[in-house]
Amino acid sequence: MPINNTNILISGGGVAGSALALWLARKGFTPTVVDAAPGPRSEGDHVEVSRRGLELLDRMGLGGRVRALGSHHTQLRTHISGRTEPVLMPLEPDSLLIRHESLVRVLWEEIDRLDQARVERVDGDTVTGLAQDRTGVDVTFAHAEPRRFDLVVGADGLYSPVRRLAFAESDENRLRPLEINVATFEAPNMLGTRNALSWHVWPYRGCVAATLPGDERLFVTLLMRDRFPVRPGSLDQGALRRMVEETFGADGWRMPELLAAMRQATVHVAPETQVRMDVWSRDRVVLIGDAATCSGQLSGQGAGVALLGALALAGELAYSDGEHGPAYFSYEAAMRATAREARAVAPQVADTGAPEVEPYEMWVRERADAVLSRATRLMNKLGLRTARDPVGRDFALERYAKMFDAPEGDG
Ligand SMILES: Cc1cc2nc3c(=O)[nH]c(=O)nc-3n(C[C@H](O)[C@H](O)[C@H](O)COP(=O)(O)OP(=O)(O)OC[C@H]3O[C@@H](n4cnc5c(N)ncnc54)[C@H](O)[C@@H]3O)c2cc1C
Repeated sequence: MPINNTNILISGGGVAGSALALWLARKGFTPTVVDAAPGPRSEGDHVEVSRRGLELLDRMGLGGRVRALGSHHTQLRTHISGRTEPVLMPLEPDSLLIRHESLVRVLWEEIDRLDQARVERVDGDTVTGLAQDRTGVDVTFAHAEPRRFDLVVGADGLYSPVRRLAFAESDENRLRPLEINVATFEAPNMLGTRNALSWHVWPYRGCVAATLPGDERLFVTLLMRDRFPVRPGSLDQGALRRMVEETFGADGWRMPELLAAMRQATVHVAPETQVRMDVWSRDRVVLIGDAATCSGQLSGQGAGVALLGALALAGELAYSDGEHGPAYFSYEAAMRATAREARAVAPQVADTGAPEVEPYEMWVRERADAVLSRATRLMNKLGLRTARDPVGRDFALERYAKMFDAPEGDG
């Protein structure tokens, strides 16, 4: 049966957009990916790929390549005020920390292995207008000439322009700040740790230092409770560094060294924000990844949800021969539970990593952590496994088994 609606615009070529382009191209659609960035990012943020995300990459045959570029953490080191030695807890190597750019590059290399002509890529441009009718969507761009597409997908992240254009009402009530600002930067591994996450928590603030692949560098995440979200792009590097130093400047542990390293690095600060929407599609336009359901960077679930969402959307479009109405409906149904589970994680991480408590409550919490880690080590000795990441456990990967078959038109 011929496929309908093959000419699909994907706004955003990050994790969700690249994975979607790959799946759609494999199934005979001809996607165009437009991204505001001038090209693939060479530095900057890291993402965590969750257990279910890694399972999916394994099914795609990309798990080995992605694992070789990322790192698993097998140990949690909780540093407690007044103690020199950290409390150690084993971690299931469920998720993988990887540069955002590396993950996206692996997906594009896979697209390039297909017939490249199936995916058109436009860098350095953005959608500025959408007008839908019964048979298609007229799209205007900041730079390129207007074009008409059968369908439009917003995979353009937390501040998605497609979401703002397609869902005409104010975007504000869809963005839910969690009243915590998150700073990230890279530093040399002055802790000397291997495959480890090191934590130190104080009232209303905390630090997580994760080893990067090879263990020579750290990805440092600082959590700062604040009722006033830092608007992205509103502060320069000097102001961002001052804000971090004012928050952590009096703290012990290795903070003086970490702050010294921050002064030599580029620091990113963003308010922890989630996206909440009742529906993710409007007529011919649909959202995936952070644009639809950002769970917050602290959740460590965004990349996994983006990958699963891309598979579900492409799968439903392929199974319905491009009929977008039923496909969008089934895609949302397939992803709702996973998105809800992912959203529940960030508030828990914020509560653990920057607890809103007074110093004496902090003291009690730290001792409770020590007891918990001893109990976990004992469980492991007895052969009982520690808890595994539950997000996406009910996602019906097997429903999309046919998507893993050879690409349409091959052999
Ligand atoms: C600053 C930052 C730090 C993060 N840190 C972490 C972390 O430490 N750990 C973690 O697990 N997750 C982190 N995340 C979240 C993670 O990156 C996302 O959840 C994940 O990449 C989801 O994939 P996505 O495709 O929806 O979004 P992305 O991968 O972010 O892709 C969105 C794409 O849209 C493009 N875009 C943006 N605006 C436009 C526009 N106007 N027009 C066209 N294209 C546009 C972007 O260039 C990008 O390529 C972070 C996110 C951000 C923004």
